[in-house]
Amino acid sequence: MNQTIDATATTAAEFIDLEDRHGAHNYHPLPVVLAKGEGCHVWDVDGKHYYDFLSAYSAVNQGHCHPRIVDKMVEQSRKLTLTSRAFHNDQLGVYEKYVTEYFAFDKVLPMNTGAEGVETAIKICRKWGYEKKGIPDNQARIIVCGQNFHGRTVTIISFSSDQGARDNFGPYTPGFESVPYGDIAAMEAAVGNDPATIAGVLVEPIQGEAGVFVPQDGYIEAVAAACKKHNVLFIADEIQTGVARTGALLRICGDCACAGHCERQPATYVRPDILILGKALSGGVYPVSAVFADDEVMNVIQPGQHGSTFGGNPVACAVAMEALEVVRDEHLIQNARTLGARFRAEMQSLVDQYPGLLKLVRGKGLLNALVINDSPDSDTAWNFCLALAEGGLLAKPTHGNIIRFAPPLVITEAQLLEACGIIGGVVKKMAKTR
Ligand SMILES: *Cc1c(COP(=O)(O)O)cnc(C)c1O
Repeated sequence: MNQTIDATATTAAEFIDLEDRHGAHNYHPLPVVLAKGEGCHVWDVDGKHYYDFLSAYSAVNQGHCHPRIVDKMVEQSRKLTLTSRAFHNDQLGVYEKYVTEYFAFDKVLPMNTGAEGVETAIKICRKWGYEKKGIPDNQARIIVCGQNFHGRTVTIISFSSDQGARDNFGPYTPGFESVPYGDIAAMEAAVGNDPATIAGVLVEPIQGEAGVFVPQDGYIEAVAAACKKHNVLFIADEIQTGVARTGALLRICGDCACAGHCERQPATYVRPDILILGKALSGGVYPVSAVFADDEVMNVIQPGQHGSTFGGNPVACAVAMEALEVVRDEHLIQNARTLGARFRAEMQSLVDQYPGLLKLVRGKGLLNALVINDSPDSDTAWNFCLALAEGGLLAKPTHGNIIRFAPPLVITEAQLLEACGIIGGVVKKMAKTR
């Protein structure tokens, strides 16, 4: 065989055809082929400009190709990229100190993808359940929520309620029980039912993939309280909601907008026993995830019991530190908070004007969704997104009739208002043709 890299494809149709013929069909992307990104902007192969209102599912909170983060990655890549954890490197310890201070936990366990972070949290939680809580062998249970999204591994899809994610991937990993999201009474009942065999509760503080479901006020506090009462670990998956996205450093910080961990806990901070971060931890330039816990929990993991060849590599460490410095230096928490309120106000006025097309807007910070007034089986939201792309804004439907809007947090007010104008234009056009 004598392969060469095919450099003959130049048009969007040709690139899409290459993917179609040679790649697994595990995604259904919008027919847009991107070639360049900067801040909240992306450009396709024809040079057409778009506002990115997905941000790679909130991985690109710091904006595309942030120069500080990219420079750091290049600089570290020229020195040392990977040692494996068979040896130490001169970035890992520095990163571990920095990131545990930033998020106020004793320890961090570095991984690469979000799903790996969730798997890691589950393993830590189960081991703690057996060794510290005294759960009988192989009987540990973890409570999860309906409509959750925690990733795509066999164990994680074992407790998904999405049939497409589950069907024909069995047999499923046992030991998980699901309760409806946002239902305090259901959660309290589940955690109170034979708590001696419950190791943990795994929750997204806002369900992103499910369609930006914001639970009622006090829900997370109630979940944490139920866990505390029954000696059960509260595990927060903030892979999508964390790192400034919702107008707080973490969603569990609630209304506290300080940049970094503050002294006001526990009044405003529902501290999870295990915190999972990913996505924007690297500003979207490199896969970096992390699991945080205090010593009492994290120390159940000993050498040989968990790991990853790439986890904690020097490039990941250097990149994540710079990405978190950018969050602080560029006031992304405040920006997400202020512009998020502005965005919802703009969308609410569209909802009020076009109730036939739009049902409601909801969200926190710059993680928001518009719910289309049509059935989840209709193609209205998909067509809406195609029209938005034509108008120069990229977003993607989730669960059929919900459109998530999550621009990079570096977006300015003027850019946001221009983007709202694009959305408004499409709404007007679509409302007319219905
Ligand atoms: C994206 C996401 C994951 C999975 O992350 P991957 O990096 O895609 O494996 C897990 N949990 C939540 C809440 C997410 O949004």
